[in-house]
Amino acid sequence: MPTEAEARETWCPFARQIILSRDGDWVGAANRALPQELGNSDPRCLASGCAAWRWANKRNPDYDENLQWSGDDPRNDMYIEDREHGYCGLAGKP
Ligand code: SF4
Repeated sequence: MPTEAEARETWCPFARQIILSRDGDWVGAANRALPQELGNSDPRCLASGCAAWRWANKRNPDYDENLQWSGDDPRNDMYIEDREHGYCGLAGKP
């Protein structure tokens, strides 16, 4: 599963760039790499800056199957959020 930094290097299929010709004659929208002379870069994933981003889960180091803590103690959770890795929730869980 990619880190957030790695995800930011990938292409987002939902992103759109507005293209305006130099002479202002036309405007367009695209979601693919555009010629550098138009001053655009590839539309990249925003990772945690996007509402669709989901953090991965990892094993909770404080979890012990032989212990039960009271209330909502986080030590009862076998898995916790892994704030180093994640994925695009719109594309499904990898
Ligand atoms: S999380 Fe998904 S929808 Fe959001 S920017 Fe990244 S690839 Fe695009």
